[in-house]
Amino acid sequence: MPYRHLFGPVASRRLGFSLGVDLLPFKTCTFNCVYCECGPTTSLTLNRREYIRAEDVIPELEDLLAHPPYMDRITFSGSGEPTLSTAIGKVLEYLDVQHPQYPAAVLTNGSLLWQQRVREEISRADLVLPTLTTVNAETFRRIHRPHPALSLEKILEGLVLFRREFGGEIWLEVFLVPPLNTSREELEGLQSAIARISPDRVQLNTLDRPCAEAWVHPASMDEMAEAKSILDFEPIDILTRATRPHRAERASCAGDTIRETLLRRPCTIEDLVRITGLHEGEVAKLLDGLCDEGVVEARSVGDGVFYCLRERRTEKPR
Ligand code: SF4
Repeated sequence: MPYRHLFGPVASRRLGFSLGVDLLPFKTCTFNCVYCECGPTTSLTLNRREYIRAEDVIPELEDLLAHPPYMDRITFSGSGEPTLSTAIGKVLEYLDVQHPQYPAAVLTNGSLLWQQRVREEISRADLVLPTLTTVNAETFRRIHRPHPALSLEKILEGLVLFRREFGGEIWLEVFLVPPLNTSREELEGLQSAIARISPDRVQLNTLDRPCAEAWVHPASMDEMAEAKSILDFEPIDILTRATRPHRAERASCAGDTIRETLLRRPCTIEDLVRITGLHEGEVAKLLDGLCDEGVVEARSVGDGVFYCLRERRTEKPR
């Protein structure tokens, strides 16, 4: 079955092997961040609705999870702000009831957490990762170019309320966009907001790849280290290029993903491209290596070529 609303699992240091669930048409968001790696927001909205129906997503999950690839968690992210979707509560409920063994994570910009309904709908997640860049209204406007009806004050209030009510973990991402939010004054403001929000973990992040605006550049290691010391929070991680999976590392993780997946079912190259997130050529090269090692073999069935493990292990897949 081709999956229209699922992607990966892809390897990430932040979330391990993560299966992505995308509940929005590209690119629907409450913000139009200068650093957005998906490019400019085409639908800037606060309108919550079932853009993609839960009834269309759940059968895809059902199908994929009947023979699951190796993964650490299922993450709601993708083409915009996932809490704009009113399907998110239903899909989280389905996962919680039917597949509780997979922790569910929500990557959110946090802009709608002041709405009680949104807090309730994502309460079945295990991990929520909101973003906060500033407590200064002008800096907020310059970095996020938000929907005009959004107020930073309300967003901060929503984060505090959510922390009080949510039983799972909150990992707060602080995204640095120098020089907009890297001054001492900016970071001290963030420090007191973080103390109020009291997340389980803070992750300092910065630009890693081409984004919406060419003038945006990543924070240096010195800027990240200084921010870490001013934020003065435990635990706090610095996410740099060195700690993110670069392509070669992703490819080596992908070798494990391919083995784990073939342990469960034979796959075509197209299946494995979808599962690993790599290009077809990279998957073909990995498969060639595994065939040369004698681990994997190709079998033609009908019009398709399927790759299978030569000796399928007898233990139960994880
Ligand atoms: S909130 Fe996320 S998806 Fe929306 S514009 Fe900002 S970076 Fe992009």
